Amino acid sequence: MTLQKFCRRGRIILAAFVILAFISAVPVFSQGQGGKRQLVDTSLPLEWTRGYTLILLDEKDLHAVNDAKEYIEESGGSIAIYSNAKAMLGWVPRTIAPFLVGKHGITSIHYEQVDADALNAQDEISLSLVNFFNSVVTGEVERQYHSLRWQGDPLVNDVLEHPFVNPAEVTKNLEDKHIAWDAELVRTTANGGVFSGYSDSMKGTIACCLFFVESDGTIDSNRYTWTTSARDHVINQCLSGASWWASQGSSNGVSVSFYIYYYSPDSSAMKQGYEPILHSTWDDYLWINAIMANLGFSSGSEFERVTSFNGWLKSWAGTNWAYSCFFAYNPSGAPSTFTDGYFAYAYLGGPYIQMLYRNDGWSIYDIWSIFAHETGHIFWACDEYYQAGYGGCTSCAPCSSYRPVTNGNCEHPSCNPSGSVPCMMRHNSNALCSYTKVQVGWQTQILTIQSSSGGTTSPTPGSYTYDYYSSVSVKANPDVNYEFSNWSGDASGTSNPITILMDRDKTIKANFRLKPKLTIQTTLNGTTNPSPGVYYYATGTQVQVTAIPNTYYEFVNWSGSISSTQNPVTVTMDSDKTVKANFRLKPKLTIQAGTHGTTNPSPGVYYYATGTLVQVSAIPDTYCIFIMWSESATGSANPVSLTMESDKSVYAHFRYIYAPSATGRKVLNRTFSQAEYINILSWEANPSNDGLDITKYRIYTMSGDTPTLLVDLAGDQIEYYHRKAGQASIQYAIRAVTRSGREGAPALVTVQ
Ligand SMILES: [Zn+2]
Ligand SMILES: [Zn+2]
Repeated sequence: MTLQKFCRRGRIILAAFVILAFISAVPVFSQGQGGKRQLVDTSLPLEWTRGYTLILLDEKDLHAVNDAKEYIEESGGSIAIYSNAKAMLGWVPRTIAPFLVGKHGITSIHYEQVDADALNAQDEISLSLVNFFNSVVTGEVERQYHSLRWQGDPLVNDVLEHPFVNPAEVTKNLEDKHIAWDAELVRTTANGGVFSGYSDSMKGTIACCLFFVESDGTIDSNRYTWTTSARDHVINQCLSGASWWASQGSSNGVSVSFYIYYYSPDSSAMKQGYEPILHSTWDDYLWINAIMANLGFSSGSEFERVTSFNGWLKSWAGTNWAYSCFFAYNPSGAPSTFTDGYFAYAYLGGPYIQMLYRNDGWSIYDIWSIFAHETGHIFWACDEYYQAGYGGCTSCAPCSSYRPVTNGNCEHPSCNPSGSVPCMMRHNSNALCSYTKVQVGWQTQILTIQSSSGGTTSPTPGSYTYDYYSSVSVKANPDVNYEFSNWSGDASGTSNPITILMDRDKTIKANFRLKPKLTIQTTLNGTTNPSPGVYYYATGTQVQVTAIPNTYYEFVNWSGSISSTQNPVTVTMDSDKTVKANFRLKPKLTIQAGTHGTTNPSPGVYYYATGTLVQVSAIPDTYCIFIMWSESATGSANPVSLTMESDKSVYAHFRYIYAPSATGRKVLNRTFSQAEYINILSWEANPSNDGLDITKYRIYTMSGDTPTLLVDLAGDQIEYYHRKAGQASIQYAIRAVTRSGREGAPALVTVQ
């Protein structure tokens, strides 16, 4: 019995860890279990053997097989094992068996040992399934299970991080087989590689291929060669392990069926130059790459090749998932570990398991549980082993950042100070803890959605179950006048909708709050847009409010939460706010005019916005003159300007410019050379014009109503001689003219 420890570290782990592995290698491989050895715990019955059923079919093509499988499952049976074979294994209630036979290619259903040689199912795989069935129903499987034996060395550190897989290599390999890599299965990871996506959760149909690795002496000496009985024993053990998982799934309401395929050691594809047991596990790529190349998957690393093979197998078998398991032969006399002390390991999430016929201290009757344990890893189950000084899980923390689910049954005292429970992933026990069920994707996760007052959610608040690791979108729907605030519980932030990853049970709460309230008020004499009232706006909204004064009124300012004279004003709704629009009557301008004139604007009452500069013109009537302004304006400037900072009034004063009193006569003036008629006009200033600055008299001759200017005379003249006026009658108009040029009323004088 070797005392070497299993302490493998993945070749993909960071360099620092690889160095640590070398440093710790000496004590790890030189210490043994000592007194801690335990017997294999077989206290729990091998439940799955109860009612184990063989179903024989008349055809083995996959279409017929799947048709029969579906029919049996719909009828209340369940299928644990099937293949491209005329035999299936599972559990069919005896009461329904008679109704199934004869339908969908089902030829017979068996609960007792059958004579394999007499069957119409002589292909290798069918015979393997029938022989295994016989070993179950004869009790041989249970006798082996219950035999007294030691546990082997713990499967500490038998799980490696999911390896880097280059999609290009996988695609190339699959293209060679005319298969596309289902894009839905590509799981991009942070390190630029991908998950194969061929073993996400242990649900539905799972293709498992067993490779009986055989050396042909071309490189290493061909030290060990598989025997048929060893091969058959391994097949039976793997079928036990697969049946165990299928039975566990059934007990947990999950349908799990294994499509089993294997390459016999005498198959040409299994023959290659390496004798694995003579190598370190670090060399596994040597035989795996060679076998994969034999099968036509020759691009890329061992991970890319096996991923490609799994993709091909999944496609060919039409299953939901696929993985591979390589068995190296090490009969008695050969070492029971690889040269580096490892014996069985798997990559978390696939793509493959490598294990031995004899696994470091474990009986060959325990191959089934080692296979089942490693299959758990393929489907993301974490190790629950912990051995002080050797590693394993060291806390309840998830075992992979890619599948962050609690590893709550880890036997490390920091996780389970009062002890962990039996589990396949802990001591290879014939049981499953609740955490492993979650990790392999069986248990649904409960999402409890809550909401505060002021809103609801879709889905509506309550508890929902979702598949493990599924993503759920939850939307917060606020009521009227409410807004979504944030998520709390197992979610945070303000994203809406939010996506919840169901990697564990979660409770999330949508919190709502009343939107900030905007109260708009006004004084009398005006309104607003939006009109006065109460409004609710989403936090952060910028609301524009316009003050609209009534006629003759003007907006003064905003009061309340803001002080501003801007109109419109922008209110930022970061809290409840009140704004009040204040209005006032505009300043009033009263314009009046005395007699003999008017104004522009015409006399009346006007309202102007405060500060307006108003120009008022005084417009005298004909023969009249503007004199001055009174009241709010003074002087005689015309037009006058007024700034409307308050109520004002102006009064325009005018005077009439009266005609002078005038007379005229005609005289004949004879000189020695000629005679001329002179019209002599004389007038007197009109006393009513006193105070007007009369600077001229202006004389027109009239032709009908049309005046023609005759002469301007200074204001102190009172007589004018119109010489050479002729003998005809002439009408004159004499008008006083002010200094500002305003002409007064005419004195009409006709001289005959
Ligand atoms: Zn493990
Ligand atoms: Zn467990």
